[in-house]
Amino acid sequence: MYTDLNNKVAIITGGSKGIGTAISKRFGQEKMSVVINYNSDEKGAQNAADEVKQAGGQAVIVQANVATEEGNQKLLQAALDNFGDLDVWVNNAGMEIKSATHELSLDDWNKMIAVDQTGVFLGSKTALAYFKKNNKKGNIINMSSVHEQIPWPTFAGYAAAKGGVKLFTKTIAMEYAKDGIRVNAIGPGAINTPINAKKFADKEQYDQTVSMVPMDRIGDPEEVAAGAAWLASSESSYVTGITLFIDGGMTLYPAFKDGQG
Ligand code: NAD
Repeated sequence: MYTDLNNKVAIITGGSKGIGTAISKRFGQEKMSVVINYNSDEKGAQNAADEVKQAGGQAVIVQANVATEEGNQKLLQAALDNFGDLDVWVNNAGMEIKSATHELSLDDWNKMIAVDQTGVFLGSKTALAYFKKNNKKGNIINMSSVHEQIPWPTFAGYAAAKGGVKLFTKTIAMEYAKDGIRVNAIGPGAINTPINAKKFADKEQYDQTVSMVPMDRIGDPEEVAAGAAWLASSESSYVTGITLFIDGGMTLYPAFKDGQG
């Protein structure tokens, strides 16, 4: 646990399930006050809020589309109205659409870019403006993916967006470092969340994914949340502009794991 996080205020986008819920809960254990954003799953967000409260933190849920400027303003306003401040903004919301690239519709491409990339820009912009105005040494965490680094055929829109998140994170980390604002990304590998539910329900696909992980297992959302808590805390006070891969070694070229090549 990181005692410096006690009573700090965080916004977590896409908090109604998966990694967003795990981060919310972990922040609750850190006795933080959390604005849990959801797009459509109000029940999931409410469950996440209950978990935060049970863990010892405070929580409110707020419906907002992260791909819009109004949505992000609404989240900031909720943090200020309910908890009086903002310390940590986690741009976690994300989505993916599988399609051969020559058949990928412009509409589906735009959907992925809007949530996975523009959402990260708008959340960061909103947080940065607040931190600058209030002279706050705030903290931003962007949920990227191993696919900011590993190409992913038939998921070109997702990989393009996460690749964008990587350099966006590094760029604003540099731009605001002198203000004491830290900006980092997390690059999860294969994590057991609803985004993967269909794939992991199929034993063949599950085993195939595990075979790409040197640690030979799928990760838990709580293991990603642990990284978010560390990046949010002052234990990482000299860390900015990184992507923290939490991937069981997936980014280590596992095809070479038995000395091939
Ligand atoms: P998930 O599908 O369980 O959760 C994604 C959340 O984002 C959902 O709550 C969804 O409602 C929300 N969301 C989608 N569009 C939104 C919008 N327009 N406005 C607000 N919220 C919106 O997925 P997850 O696995 O928990 O993923 C969380 C993040 O981690 C995503 O950015 C994803 O790309 C990333 N990630 C996940 C994995 C994995 O293996 N699970 C791996 C790498 C990266």
